[in-house]
Amino acid sequence: MALDFSQLGLDNRIINAISELGYRTPTPVQEKVIPELLVTGNDMVCLAQTGTGKTAAFGLPILQKTDTATFITQSLVLAPTRELARQISQDLTNYGRNFQNLKIVPVYGGAGIDAQIRLLKKGAQIIVATPGRIIDLVERGAADLSSVKTLILDEADEMLNMGFKDELDTILESLPADRQTLLFSATLPKEVEKIARTYMKDPRIIQIGARNSGTKNVQHFYFTVHAKDRYSALKRLVDYNPDIYGIIFCRTRQETQEIADSLIKDGYDADSLHGELSQMQRDLVMKRFKEKSLKLLVATDVAARGIDVNNLSHVINYNLPDEIEQYTHRSGRTGRADKSGVSYAIINTKEKHKIKKIEKAAGITFTAARIPNGDEVCERQLAYLIEQIDNTPVSPEIDAFLPAVTEKWASLSKEDIIKKVLSIEFNRFIEYYRYSRELNIPDEKENSQQTLKTEKGFSWIRLNIGSRHNITVRHIIRLMVSCGLGKKGIGKIELRKDQVFVSVAERAAGYLVQELNGSTYRGRKLKAEHVNNV
Ligand code: AMP
Repeated sequence: MALDFSQLGLDNRIINAISELGYRTPTPVQEKVIPELLVTGNDMVCLAQTGTGKTAAFGLPILQKTDTATFITQSLVLAPTRELARQISQDLTNYGRNFQNLKIVPVYGGAGIDAQIRLLKKGAQIIVATPGRIIDLVERGAADLSSVKTLILDEADEMLNMGFKDELDTILESLPADRQTLLFSATLPKEVEKIARTYMKDPRIIQIGARNSGTKNVQHFYFTVHAKDRYSALKRLVDYNPDIYGIIFCRTRQETQEIADSLIKDGYDADSLHGELSQMQRDLVMKRFKEKSLKLLVATDVAARGIDVNNLSHVINYNLPDEIEQYTHRSGRTGRADKSGVSYAIINTKEKHKIKKIEKAAGITFTAARIPNGDEVCERQLAYLIEQIDNTPVSPEIDAFLPAVTEKWASLSKEDIIKKVLSIEFNRFIEYYRYSRELNIPDEKENSQQTLKTEKGFSWIRLNIGSRHNITVRHIIRLMVSCGLGKKGIGKIELRKDQVFVSVAERAAGYLVQELNGSTYRGRKLKAEHVNNV
């Protein structure tokens, strides 16, 4: 049976605060870490992904152990970014809301130092800091870390990725030797192991989920397209998921800005988050994203660190990250706190090996998926629109206007009215997708024409229908026969997921392609082509 928080040894001030936040049962990392931290001063390395509840895992015990009779700094939490530092500080403040005299101060770069100095001067039992800024504050005499009892390195792998190695060395060397060190990391690269070996005393290693693995409740999909089609593919994925609330990861600030600008221009609720924005701009973007007035946040890895937004439906890798571990961080932004999530990667054919590498390093499996075609997007949008209409409450005030409207529309049939109402929203999709192209590059296996042996007197044609469209070999035979081909003119049929290769009498091949191309079969517009290079 699941434990509850009181069984972990937490006191009522904390239990009441977290139950007000809606925490009912501890997450696995909390179950393992909280009781141990409450009773021992041992060092600990905890491998846990973002979203597993690790802030409360270290936060609740350090709060309970804080001596609020003094304002001396007792705990230092280091985090890679200002967003994460602020988030942790906010979480700790929420958890400690029933404590008298509790002072938690976040300090981070990219914001004025004077205000932070003023806050620190008033005392802080807990400081949550980015590494560079805390060193600066210590050097200016504003922070005193000489009595720190517990040091927490949160997202240690990320701090090293961001180049904070020297700063971490400086801080780790300068803190009291008898302190407790807790290191949290999603992954355990060599550099993190080295920190643990050099600066920690016989740390207990706690692993939540598989080592280096992505969050379990995230499904990973990749889509193979030509590099030039990346943006069109992104739009289709977004259009195919009308309820999307997600982050689109780009590799550079420039790409982030460009993609966000294009999405905005194309009418999406999107904006960018990257390091070139001022703190005020970033705060505003985050506020809008949290309120969901922004549905899509286009971000660099660095800017997205520490964003604590729950309920993200999707993470989209517009480009895969250069560092494989980054992928774990990115996809960990969805599927948080036991909710399910989806991570998409848009790749080109040359990047397939990266998918393999990530699968191996992160212990996850990707599913190859296809970018939906225009018809599929429109179908999905229509279903969504109908659902929205179904769910729209009708206010009684509308009755008063009804007679005038009924009179105006007297000549229209019910069907005409339905069509017009749907068209208000739907026209833009129909227009946009009217001449939409196929964006997918079939998987090598899916496209492996070389496995198709040409029979004498026959040649292969390819059609864009397959088992995915509920097409069977029998359907194909009937289709060929309906085009006037005799049974003897039909050779092998190779049915794939998205396509079918049909070996047909050589003489008939040209005619068949002409006949089939552009025709409709079982509701689908056919593309037929000769396959020469078999
Ligand atoms: P973290 O991994 O600390 O960033 O936590 C991820 C999210 O889960 C945060 O929004 C927390 O507020 C939430 N959370 C943490 N612990 C629990 C819990 N025991 N029950 C419900 N939600 C939690």
